[in-house]
Amino acid sequence: MRKIQMVDLLGQYDKVQKKIDSKILEVVKSAAYINGPEVHSFQKELENYLNVKHVIPCANGTDALQIAMMGLGLKPGDEVITADFTFAATVEVIALLGLTPVLVDVEKDTFNIDIESLKKAITPKTKAIVPVHLFGQCANMEAVLEVAKTHNLFVIEDTAQAIGADYTFKNGSKKKAGTIGNVGTTSFFPSKNLGCYGDGGAIFTNNDDLAHTLRGIVNHGMYKRYYHDVVGVNSRLDSIQAAILRIKLPLLNSYCDARSKAAEYYTKAFSTTKNITTPVISNFTTHVFHQYTIQVKNVDRNALHQHLLDNGIPNAIYYPVPLHSQKAYMDVRYKEEDFKVTNELINTVLSLPMHTELDSEQLNFITSTVLNFINK
Ligand SMILES: *Cc1c(COP(=O)(O)O)cnc(C)c1O
Repeated sequence: MRKIQMVDLLGQYDKVQKKIDSKILEVVKSAAYINGPEVHSFQKELENYLNVKHVIPCANGTDALQIAMMGLGLKPGDEVITADFTFAATVEVIALLGLTPVLVDVEKDTFNIDIESLKKAITPKTKAIVPVHLFGQCANMEAVLEVAKTHNLFVIEDTAQAIGADYTFKNGSKKKAGTIGNVGTTSFFPSKNLGCYGDGGAIFTNNDDLAHTLRGIVNHGMYKRYYHDVVGVNSRLDSIQAAILRIKLPLLNSYCDARSKAAEYYTKAFSTTKNITTPVISNFTTHVFHQYTIQVKNVDRNALHQHLLDNGIPNAIYYPVPLHSQKAYMDVRYKEEDFKVTNELINTVLSLPMHTELDSEQLNFITSTVLNFINK
């Protein structure tokens, strides 16, 4: 059996090695390392894939969130609501810009922002909502959009974990994750579903004016060379990363399929035990399984975590501490009873190996090792 990995980047590279190697060499020889034709072509190809008017490539997914918030003109003191259960980047940029993060609880089934908690958190200072499409499926965007419309708020979708997921509206129309709100952001960090071989990110919007503003902000606030109209940042996707992403983008749907197949295997194997809750997929979204995260009951989760490690099965606890309890983001306004779900999830969740290269021998070993422990 091949050694089991949490994410098998090398196994995925092996299958496209020739193309990638020759392309990287081509870019090196072109000497267009920044903002070259590869970046422009990738931008167009991603716009086409997502069916969105504008993609603005940038340096990473954290920058993408920050730049999106700058582009919307959010000002210090504005409140931005996001989920308590996400990677810290989401809340970090809110705080960094002097905005006020307001964390709210998530749904137990889907790990995504809870709409009732969202509604309760709105104040006259609220300016934006950041739904995170956690682990690969979309938050309840139709409900988020309704709340946003009622209170005149911006919606910034953090799509770092769900690129490629499809959202279906009640009227049957479909949109790609990240193209539903005012602006969407993603990350091309190597372990993400569409990963490059370094750092990368992008911002999506259908709004022409916002796209223009964002293109200036990523480039030092310049709209004309050496004329700085607004305070910007330096956030670029480099040409080598764009070239790699151009090879991987056409494979993204097949990558999603491979992840789904592995997820189906897990879910079927675990259907025999009541002590494992397998991922619940909302009916309005597909799931691209950035993570396959189970919730365990009547079982010592930390002991299971260690047991799997002892058997050579990597696994992880995403996330071990809710953001409202992190030193950097604690706030006297938060009450523990408002975070019933995240306070429970941190003790019950476990993410199993999930990537495009898992084979049935590995999946069988993982599921039987989990079940042997649970049923012992
Ligand atoms: C990975 C991730 C980010 C940040 O992306 P980077 O490219 O690492 O900066 C932001 N939000 C979520 C939900 C993520 O998973």
